[in-house]
Amino acid sequence: MFGAIYGDVIGSYYEVHCTKDYNFVFNQDSSFTDDSVLIAAVCKAIIDDPSDITAFRVNARIKEYAALYRQYYAYYPHAGFGNMFIAWAKNPYAKNGRSYANGAAMRVIPIGYAYSNMEQTLLQAKVSGMPTHNNREAIKAAQAVAAAVYLARHGEGKDKIKEFLEKKFKYNLSIPLSVIKESHVFNCRSSYSVPPAIIAFLESTDYESAIRNAISLGGDADTQACIAGGIAEAYYKEIPEHIKRFCDRRIDGSIKAAVKEFDQKYWMA
Ligand SMILES: [Mg+2]
Repeated sequence: MFGAIYGDVIGSYYEVHCTKDYNFVFNQDSSFTDDSVLIAAVCKAIIDDPSDITAFRVNARIKEYAALYRQYYAYYPHAGFGNMFIAWAKNPYAKNGRSYANGAAMRVIPIGYAYSNMEQTLLQAKVSGMPTHNNREAIKAAQAVAAAVYLARHGEGKDKIKEFLEKKFKYNLSIPLSVIKESHVFNCRSSYSVPPAIIAFLESTDYESAIRNAISLGGDADTQACIAGGIAEAYYKEIPEHIKRFCDRRIDGSIKAAVKEFDQKYWMA
């Protein structure tokens, strides 16, 4: 799971200082952001209740996710959360939010590891998005990312992953990254930012190239690298030591603890 979090850390500086340079340096001011905080919350939600759900349990499960999102927001209120999320998190009576942004897709990576079939993976991805992203476009993006992780960790090739996502979610993943990059800007809308993040993985040759591809799009760098890095870790199953060394000291202890506990149960299983 650290593949997603390292992507967030390395991308954090370039979310503000956008770059199109593939060979950008890892900046000393990098830090974990809201992406990592909410991934830790999803890890905790799965550790606390790892069971499959049926349609009858959907509403109860949405409430469990919502409670953990609010709890983790309260731990790290200054981690870079968006205004809509903050307003939702501060109001315990708020209804499910309807954001179409990429927040549901950025935190969904653990779900790709935790369930034994695609149907449950897609249902859990939807439910994990619902508290704040009760929106068709945002849920679709979250499901696409969870499905990519699920397929990658089961050893499926990139062609199969691409074909599945194009068919199921009607994404065009055949546009070369070099073409997308020419006009790509910062925009956290799901339909705009998530497919290029998936392509950043599809065009990669290893973990590091996936996050370099994503960050050098010059867009929502931390979230796009979080998504590309999360899928890349599931696919390549290894992360270079120099990236671990750079990122590990930039992640807070309680995020690390939740993610490590999740990894011991699911990643190393
Ligand atoms: Mg962020």
